[in-house]
Amino acid sequence: MTACSCTFFNHRRKQMKDERKNDIENTTYRFLEEQGAVSIPVDVNALASKLGFKVKKTNFSDKAITGMILVNENEKIPNVDTNMFIAVSSWLDEQKARFILAHELGHFSLHKKAKQPLFAYRDTDQRSGSLVEDEAELYARALLMPRPSVKAAVRVYKEDEELSKEYGSLTAFISKIFNVSHKKAYDRLDELNVLC
Ligand SMILES: [Zn+2]
Repeated sequence: MTACSCTFFNHRRKQMKDERKNDIENTTYRFLEEQGAVSIPVDVNALASKLGFKVKKTNFSDKAITGMILVNENEKIPNVDTNMFIAVSSWLDEQKARFILAHELGHFSLHKKAKQPLFAYRDTDQRSGSLVEDEAELYARALLMPRPSVKAAVRVYKEDEELSKEYGSLTAFISKIFNVSHKKAYDRLDELNVLC
């Protein structure tokens, strides 16, 4: 089987258009609603299982590899006994592992074409900065930190002084309740223009 890799994309950097961003936000939120999975923190492992994926923590010998996705509609993937497989590096902490899993689901949702029985991506911690990577990242942020839920959480944080004493910052609060890293929480607040 030939696996194409995210890291092999070397084309010139393109910016995601606003229309595409909105599309990804809306598609992701609709998916969460359809799955009855909007509650926080989003159970991304349960979502992957519902889609039919077997998810396995893997000790990649190359520690730069963070995750990979393999789909083979025609036959089971050797050694893993399934057609739909996601491997997440066991070197990652829980928050990063959740994010990588969401990122791989993003590739599946956004980049797998209907008539493409064989589909594969491999991700490393040296992101290529390609458009497909940016899209999978946005999908992961939108899946784990749904826009309406983040906006509601920001309102709660701003109205309750005790929360700022307890968490120290809005980013720390968002990181905690959505179970994502500070970096990803910050990025999400920034892109939703709700940093304070
Ligand atoms: Zn990727």
